[in-house]
Amino acid sequence: MEFPVTELLDQQACTQWIMEHFHVQGLHCHNPQCKAPVEDARPFRRTKRSGIQVYRCRKCQSIYNMYSGTVFEKSQLTPVQVVLLLRGVLKGEPSATLAKELGLARSTVHLIRRELQTNAEELQPNTRLPDAQTETDEMFQNAGEKGRTAPLLVGPAS
Ligand SMILES: [Zn+2]
Repeated sequence: MEFPVTELLDQQACTQWIMEHFHVQGLHCHNPQCKAPVEDARPFRRTKRSGIQVYRCRKCQSIYNMYSGTVFEKSQLTPVQVVLLLRGVLKGEPSATLAKELGLARSTVHLIRRELQTNAEELQPNTRLPDAQTETDEMFQNAGEKGRTAPLLVGPAS
């Protein structure tokens, strides 16, 4: 028996969780020269597959969403899939199991796991993935994004 886990969680609640954990300082424009807060953007459209809100910045006209600059930028997962995938990875569940449960390609799960692992190692060189209680949003940022800006946890992004 397979449990339809993705249908048992609320997309809105998961969106809220992602916003709080990926964007500790609040969602802002992804243009590094701009970084205007999401209050300066207008809702533009929703993504086709993941159904998340896309914003257009009023200051620089850039388009971004809550996955911009994170390891989930290209995977087009729904908020529920993101939350369950993170939970599974942090609990050390096998990629094959997670892929099946969440209706994802195993390669997608594997890729995201590897990126999270890489980020975690950079943050805490001597440990494996931090546990689910770890308070950091950096783990979710694209590796390529780092080094360009100050860590998001240090001071407001202005
Ligand atoms: Zn902007």
